Amino acid sequence: MSTRRTILIAPIGEISDWILEAVAFGVNEAFDLDTRILSLFNNIDFAWDPGRKQYHSTQILEALETHAPDDILKVIGITREDLFIPVLTYVYGEAQLGGTAALISISRLVQGLDTGFLQSSYKRIIKEAVHELGHTFNLRHCRDELCMMHYCRSLEDVDKKSSRFCRYCNIMIADAIRDLGV
Ligand SMILES: [Zn+2]
Ligand SMILES: [Zn+2]
Repeated sequence: MSTRRTILIAPIGEISDWILEAVAFGVNEAFDLDTRILSLFNNIDFAWDPGRKQYHSTQILEALETHAPDDILKVIGITREDLFIPVLTYVYGEAQLGGTAALISISRLVQGLDTGFLQSSYKRIIKEAVHELGHTFNLRHCRDELCMMHYCRSLEDVDKKSSRFCRYCNIMIADAIRDLGV
């Protein structure tokens, strides 16, 4: 039996406590695994693309994997910077399919400062963080628009999906966690 039951939440740069706590809460709810908050690095200049004026998320994933402590199961990085992968203009996040590292950017998820907006930002951050971590447990995109593994192109799509996995994805997650022996 592996004792690695911890998902590390790694802020990159200045990230508000409420955001880190939202992710910790959502991750714990979704996977029933422990969480720990610990910054691994703050400088992501290595991933900066001067042409696009954005950060290349795949390079940050590699750095998260490299810096992750041995005793953690998965790591999710959280940045305020806008992220891209070459084929898309921006991404809310990215993950290593069946791997260790996931990443989200809050830059397009957090909007407005009044209570209603904060409430939806809170939910969006949880949904996208859990979505990306779902990929590290080998889950692919789900057709069910209400499932957290549904691929979202817009904030409307993110707001429309629920904060749950569909029945199918739930079984996939449970199997993946059981197979890891944690
Ligand atoms: Zn995805
Ligand atoms: Zn699903």
